[in-house]
Formats: sequence, C-alpha cells, structure tokens
Amino acid sequence: MKIQHIFFDLDNTLWDHRRNAYLTIKDLFEKEEITLKYNIGFEEFHSVYHRINEKLWEDIRDGIIDKEYLRKHRFYDTFRYFNVDDQQLSMYFEEHFLDKILNYNELVEGATSILDYLKTKNYTLHIISNGFKEVTERKCILSGIDKYFQTITSADTVGVRKPRPEIFEYSLKLAGTIKQESILIGDDWIADVLGAQNFGMDVIFFDVLKENRQKEGLKVIQHLLQIKEYL
Ligand SMILES: [Mg+2]
Repeated sequence: MKIQHIFFDLDNTLWDHRRNAYLTIKDLFEKEEITLKYNIGFEEFHSVYHRINEKLWEDIRDGIIDKEYLRKHRFYDTFRYFNVDDQQLSMYFEEHFLDKILNYNELVEGATSILDYLKTKNYTLHIISNGFKEVTERKCILSGIDKYFQTITSADTVGVRKPRPEIFEYSLKLAGTIKQESILIGDDWIADVLGAQNFGMDVIFFDVLKENRQKEGLKVIQHLLQIKEYL
C-alpha cells in the first residue's frame, strides 16, 4: 500500500526545542544575574541542566517519575549541582521557563521546506507529540506550521505517551487512516522508532544527534530534507 499519511513528532523534529530552551534559560539566567550572584557561567549551567532534564524526561517516559516531579527538580537539581540550594529560585526558573519558551519559535533547519514539499506531493500531515496539549498547539501556531497539519495528537489527550501503542492507535483513528498507509518521523529512538515499530507502523529515524544507530532496513536521516529520499 502507498503511504498517504505522515505523522511527525514535534519537539526537536520540527520545533527546535533544544535551541528555544537554550535561549529561554539564557534570558532568565541573565535577568536574575546568576553569574554575578553565584559565580556560575551560563554555558556550564546550561549543559548541567540539559543533562539533568534529558534524564528526567527518560524517567517520565519509563514511568519512573511524573511530570510534577520533573518540574520540581530540573532546575532545583541543576542549582544544587552548583551548591545553590534554593527552591524558590528554582521554581521561579521553572514557572518562567514554561511561560517564556513560547516567545522563541525557531524551527529545525529545513522544517518549512520539507513541509511544503510533502504538501505539494499530496501527503496528509499530522503531529503526534508527547508534550502538553495546549503547549503543543501553541508551538505549532506561534511557529506558523499549524496550517500544514490535519490533526494534532498530544499525549495528555490520550493519557499515554509514545512508545505506547495506544497513542498511535488514537492518532490514526483521528486521522481516519490505517498503519499500512502511514509513516512516523521522529528523533527519539525509544518513543518514536521503537514505538512505531512495535505498533507495526513504518518509521523514519531523524538522527539529529548522530547517534548512528544501526538496524536492518531502518530508514535514517540526519537532515530533514533527506526525507525526500523516502517520500
Ligand atoms: Mg522529539
């Protein structure tokens, strides 16, 4: 059967979460004069934050912690790494981070060109995101890519996250299609690639961090425009 529906992951596949988060935290960091008050350099702070945040998201994905735990800990644990034990300061960062990140809407390189290309080839496009529903939709609208998508599925709406099969099932139903006519494109090895494969749906791994995973017959790209090699 011919592929007709393309399901995109959003964060770090189309919407450049890493870049937008970096810029947001930098703003907060400078506004709060953290370097001056605690003698912490921003680049080091950010790389510690990044490591802690990625680990916490993995723990959420694996069902070890919930989102509330993540929100309480990602900045708190980062500051504590630098011997700053301050819950109020950490919560200030957390609350403003979620607020302010939507002021930045940089897309991954090639995002708009590839969406235009896929549209002209008459594919129907969708989003399946593990993010918060309202945030997912606002990211699409504010970055101007909402017009490309027929449906947007967020984990919050379904009550389960990728890689669980229920979220793929839900999204296909919403799109009015079947897995044999669909493909997923995403950057997370477990949530996107293993998730889609276990569900029985074709997938393209966006290996943006050059993890160089090898798997028989796996479709891999390192730049969004390489999607043209497959679709
Ligand atoms: Mg992603």
